[in-house]
Amino acid sequence: CGIVGVTGRKDSVEILVSGLEKLEYRGYDSAGIYVNDAQKQAHLVKARGKIADLKKKLTPEIQGTTGIGHTRWATNGVPSIENAHPQFSTDERFYLVHNGVIENYEELKAEYLSDLTFVSQTDTEVVVQLVDRFVVRDGLTTKEAFKKTLSLLKGSSYAFLLMDYEDPETLYVAKNKSPLLIGIGKNFNVVCSDALAMLNVTKDFLELHDGEMVVVTPKKVEITNQNGDTIQRKSFHVDLDP
Ligand code: GLU
Repeated sequence: CGIVGVTGRKDSVEILVSGLEKLEYRGYDSAGIYVNDAQKQAHLVKARGKIADLKKKLTPEIQGTTGIGHTRWATNGVPSIENAHPQFSTDERFYLVHNGVIENYEELKAEYLSDLTFVSQTDTEVVVQLVDRFVVRDGLTTKEAFKKTLSLLKGSSYAFLLMDYEDPETLYVAKNKSPLLIGIGKNFNVVCSDALAMLNVTKDFLELHDGEMVVVTPKKVEITNQNGDTIQRKSFHVDLDP
């Protein structure tokens, strides 16, 4: 239901959690975050219930410079820890948060992943397992695998934020019929489904269009369209004064 992401900030956990709190009003049944850093100290924390319940599980060693967070409104699979996001691949390399619904996830599972045991009942897990499969088995780069996976999601709605354990300061971003914005900072960048979630860290945002794929690092936002062309886009400033 709500998505947040950040790269290039030592206080990433605080930014993600406060961002999720700002999206609480939209309603949700569970929440989670995944953070990593240049030393690959990765942490996954999920909770059923409120953000307050997630906060109770956060210990001082749970820190990172890059991370993704999610509040879930279940569409496929009951509200549970296993079904909460981030969802991850079996080898624990890829982590994904998702808003929306993957219409053809059963077909994709049958076609590409029939040998796998799934941890969750979500449509989302199929997407993260597909990316992993295309990278680990077929030798694609993460960007190529993400692009290929997106091309298979027929008629679906999504806002995605993907992380690769092997590339810990990069966020892979895409959207279709679900809102998602990039927030621009100085030596950091953020991603959110609603600007409200990140107004305490930046007031400058980039709009994304359906079908675009974005690679976000602390100093760079690289937008490409479906043809693979690089897109230049100006940010807009959110002015809160009347
Ligand atoms: N379809 C996904 C799920 O059920 C995402 C739901 C959401 O948008 O929160 O896990």
